[in-house]
Amino acid sequence: MRVAFASEPAYPDRPNEDFIGATADAIVLLDGASIPPGITSTCSHSVRWYSHTLGSTLLAEMTQSAGPLPELLAQGIKHVTSLHDFTCDLTHGGSPSATVIMLRQTADHLDWLVLGDSTLILDTGTPEPTVIYDDRLEQVAAPHRTRLDSLPGGTPEHAEARREYVEALGQYRNRDGGFWVASTDPLAADQALTGTTPAEQVRAAALLTDGAADTVSRYRLTTWRQLLDVLAQDGPTALIRRVREAERSDPHGERWPRSKTHDDATAVNVMVHE
Ligand SMILES: [Zn+2]
Repeated sequence: MRVAFASEPAYPDRPNEDFIGATADAIVLLDGASIPPGITSTCSHSVRWYSHTLGSTLLAEMTQSAGPLPELLAQGIKHVTSLHDFTCDLTHGGSPSATVIMLRQTADHLDWLVLGDSTLILDTGTPEPTVIYDDRLEQVAAPHRTRLDSLPGGTPEHAEARREYVEALGQYRNRDGGFWVASTDPLAADQALTGTTPAEQVRAAALLTDGAADTVSRYRLTTWRQLLDVLAQDGPTALIRRVREAERSDPHGERWPRSKTHDDATAVNVMVHE
């Protein structure tokens, strides 16, 4: 595989909570769930620590084991939990969490895993590419968004509504009937969307955190097919530039109501066949 990626924090002076790592045949992309001010955590570690520690653990595992991806993810979550369960109280769900995409090329297949609301796109040469996206968070979040979406972004009222929104979502995290992300429970790995596709059927793939997928999912600036073309022709940095331009044109979320004006954004372009 030929892999190109770009990753940018929401603001230049803020830590990037996305993690991206790749070898020639393995890619790992995580999006750490940011914790708004006012929410207290019983874990002393940052979201960035979590996404980068789990991400680098998963990439190391993928280079050493050909085991099933959900198994590697469960092991990785267990390992990272063991790094802080003796210093932090991880029993009350207040610890950091992240979405996970894993993509691996074997001799003749692509294995993939998607946990949480990041997006994997497989270009199989058909007019419409295959879009793999877990909408469980979106489903449970929708009824809780009404107040948040009615307030102008950048105001104290919006910040307060966002804190309430994130707190409300906490009760659905890693529960049946809710949504699943990597945090401290290895069983979350069983909830990931997974699949294996013959490599010869896949021309290219794209991996996107929601900050980059918003180009299509939220702002509707392009189609998934056009997004793949931008990635292939202009590269991942150009895609993120377009996202930022759209966000700057709507700084208070009037056209596109959203939790944050900008979000960490990571885009990965994978050429499986040249
Ligand atoms: Zn901790």
